[in-house]
Amino acid sequence: MPHSSGGGSHGGGFHGGSHGGSGTRMSRSYFAGATRYIYYWHGVPNEIFSNTDLKKNAASTRVAMTFFAVMFMGMITLVFMLEAFHYPNKLETDYDTAIYISDHANVMTVEEEGRLMESLIRFQDETGITPSVCTVYDYDWSDKSNLEDYAYDLYVERFRDEKHWLIVYSVPDESSSEDWSWEGMQGDDTDPILGDRETKMFGRELTDLLENNRDLSPAGAIARTFDDTTPEMMRQYTIWGFVIAGCVAAAAGAAAVVLIQIFGRKSARKYETAITVERNEVLKQQNCDYCGGIYVEGHHTTCPHCGAQLPFLAPVFEQDGDSKR
Ligand SMILES: [Zn+2]
Repeated sequence: MPHSSGGGSHGGGFHGGSHGGSGTRMSRSYFAGATRYIYYWHGVPNEIFSNTDLKKNAASTRVAMTFFAVMFMGMITLVFMLEAFHYPNKLETDYDTAIYISDHANVMTVEEEGRLMESLIRFQDETGITPSVCTVYDYDWSDKSNLEDYAYDLYVERFRDEKHWLIVYSVPDESSSEDWSWEGMQGDDTDPILGDRETKMFGRELTDLLENNRDLSPAGAIARTFDDTTPEMMRQYTIWGFVIAGCVAAAAGAAAVVLIQIFGRKSARKYETAITVERNEVLKQQNCDYCGGIYVEGHHTTCPHCGAQLPFLAPVFEQDGDSKR
């Protein structure tokens, strides 16, 4: 459907366009473009104004709500289930798997670098993820807001794939190594292996070794952390809490769908016998002789409540004169 994309006029300024103006509006009082309806509920007629077909309204609202409930709870269930099952597969090594150790900060001896390389190779053999280690000074990333941003940029600059794990280690300058910091940057494809549990295990151990094990060089700490955690990386496990949470979300979604159907049908039934009346129609109410229900005269040949035959009478319209009967 075409719609205005905005316009303007001299002295009148600019006005925006109308977008998606197909909204449903219902009201107890008249508004422009509305049709006047009478629907019967609990034996009495009720007046309502709507700009769309009453029956179709109820049906499309129900469909939209059902769709929303299914999508919403389905997504939550999916997120929980994806977290719950940790069954990693070794990554295909169909990419540039060269392992880099870049010691810009000069914190490793040649032997230490060699030992670290061995640890990194063992990790790569086990996981298919290519690890790399880079040491820098804090002033190397002084133009970035933090080490994480620097590590991100470094990853994107160096690697064209999502299968790397880059560890960046930083010290203030040549003379001080006390205030170290480090950051890990992992590619998206490593997520099934390097989950929450794995990265926390790695991070806790590395931080602890750097903090409390003074005999260990930074390279030694990183190497030992890799050595200790590599055997844990491909472990398969299920987090039952997430499984249960996923099931609860799915059940809540199913319950919502059922409730929407029940209440949706109820409201659809309410409007099933709705009639359209002119704005200027004078509503004359009558009681059904058989069930006592109230109906509007001039629209029914059978009672909207019980279905009994009714005498037909023409609707009455309000006019300028006194033509009311
Ligand atoms: Zn009746």
